[in-house]
Amino acid sequence: MRLDRFLSDMGVLSRSECKRAVRAGAVTVNGITAQKSDIAIDPESDKVYLKGELIPYEKFTYIMLNKPKGYISATDDKRKQTVLDLLEPRLAARELFPCGRLDIDTTGLLILTNDGALAHALLSPKHHAEKVYRFECDKALPVDSPERVKSGLVLDDGYECLSAELVLDEGRESGVITLREGKFHQIKRMAHTLGAEIVALERIEFGGVKLDRTLDRGEYRPLTPEEMSMLERYRI
Ligand code: URA
Repeated sequence: MRLDRFLSDMGVLSRSECKRAVRAGAVTVNGITAQKSDIAIDPESDKVYLKGELIPYEKFTYIMLNKPKGYISATDDKRKQTVLDLLEPRLAARELFPCGRLDIDTTGLLILTNDGALAHALLSPKHHAEKVYRFECDKALPVDSPERVKSGLVLDDGYECLSAELVLDEGRESGVITLREGKFHQIKRMAHTLGAEIVALERIEFGGVKLDRTLDRGEYRPLTPEEMSMLERYRI
């Protein structure tokens, strides 16, 4: 990999900034001052320092985003803003994508990564990674909803949902639902089948990783090592 590519992929310097830093003698590779910004390096084994500071190599990036309303879970779209528009420009080179989809009006936990294998494992129907959502409906759900959801709710279009867990709040208009699958508009369709419409939906957990409540809507941070080990359990 080229040195300038390495530094831009790690989100440290743009290619032109790298050129300037090299000219100023600020970049070393294995203790030797780099003479050109396009030299080939091995990111796995070479030690790159910028102004005396080691730049660690991260093959993949894993981010927790608290998704606000109004953004689609895609990497690009002609008309609508995507969740990638919420990230700072230095992350653009990392080619991140959302791991799964939340509807445009759904908020909460979305994991962004460029690790296709882990994303695939987390989304694979075989692995049943749990997704937990808080929801609000426009009216109370029937008393027997938790039992119906547990025994595999049959949607209006005939699809039989996997067994899920529904815990209703007092008043039965809101609650928490845990799914082990992720069909299109699934919770909205489940609520509709139960006779109500979803008016607010927030994902609060995915694969054992909980939404960090210190993140405001639209804010993000890297996953912690503990959160990563929760997700690594699903790798095939
Ligand atoms: N179910 C839905 O209906 N929408 C989402 O965004 C996620 C689950």
